[in-house]
Amino acid sequence: MEEFAQRLDRLRNEMDRQDIDYLVLGPSTDLTYAIGFATKLTERLTMLVLPREGIPQLVLPDFELPAVSALPPLFETVAWSDGADPTHLAASLLRGSGGTPRVAVGAQLQARFLLDLMQAGVKAGWTNGDAVMAPARSRKSASEIDALREASRIADAVVDDLCRQPLEGSTEHEVFRAAQQLAIDRGSDALVTGLVAFGENTAAPHHHLSTRTARAGDTVLVDMGPTSKHYRGDITRTLFLGEPDDEFRRLYETVDGANQAAFQRVAPGVRAEEIDAAAREHIARAGYADRFLHRTGHGIGLDIHEPPYIVPGDATPLEPGMVFTIEPGVYLEGRFGIRVEDVVLVTDDGGVRLNQSPHDIRVVP
Ligand code: ZN
Ligand code: ZN
Repeated sequence: MEEFAQRLDRLRNEMDRQDIDYLVLGPSTDLTYAIGFATKLTERLTMLVLPREGIPQLVLPDFELPAVSALPPLFETVAWSDGADPTHLAASLLRGSGGTPRVAVGAQLQARFLLDLMQAGVKAGWTNGDAVMAPARSRKSASEIDALREASRIADAVVDDLCRQPLEGSTEHEVFRAAQQLAIDRGSDALVTGLVAFGENTAAPHHHLSTRTARAGDTVLVDMGPTSKHYRGDITRTLFLGEPDDEFRRLYETVDGANQAAFQRVAPGVRAEEIDAAAREHIARAGYADRFLHRTGHGIGLDIHEPPYIVPGDATPLEPGMVFTIEPGVYLEGRFGIRVEDVVLVTDDGGVRLNQSPHDIRVVP
């Protein structure tokens, strides 16, 4: 209850600062963040209207009322039955008291619901709700950090379990399914997302699972996102099937060195893009600047990718409580790729890795 009261306060403070009259959220991680309601997105209108002052109103189908009855009682419900017109119900909550209200719309609200409000005659200054959500969501509370730590613990356990399993002869699909089962066994409350790639497939940062089987001499890339209390983990380890050659070892040290260089740079006040630069410079010095094909990392929380982004151009100053990944990679097309990814928490004293799984080169059977 207190946790969610504090979250609503944070959102209202942002609305105040940005002169926003209403924040409107649909089924999404934004809604889960605001009131703890994790619900599926359907064509039936479900919408939280959070006024700058006053009680938040949750418009929802009446048969969903039992699903919200156990949530902290920080909002009122406005239920509608099939056959009724929920748009006008929602629109009636947005009428400003004189003047045009400024309405921040959650970026994950489905466009149809916003279009319906506009067609229903709601006159508002519409703005992107991310400007309100991101500052609140990017600084995690103690209980959010606990959940993120647990998701990372599960991710570590899955990787360590996989390292003990014979992979030779298995397909990427089979190993990914095994990882999903391991994650559930280790306490993940949802199936993991991510990928498993072998050999030349590791050279594609977002490879799609295939029936390629693992053979001796393959690089094995495992990228996993288990979940704890809706919060996400995200780990990548690049393993080797058999005895790695010198080229793999050299490149691994380059990528892991970039991970360390970025991690060392983490401190309050440092800009997100400076973390990216630290990793990028390390890889450039080894001569692989053009083979590092993506940003260094992304914020993580209820979404696996959320602000801040560890990328050139994201000047967000890091603050204690921010959590993001550091995941530099080098990809040699047609041959192999290496990525090393951990989730990192910003504290007053610098970065703390939430993943404990070792970074040493690991040989798998
Ligand atoms: Zn990942
Ligand atoms: Zn990631």
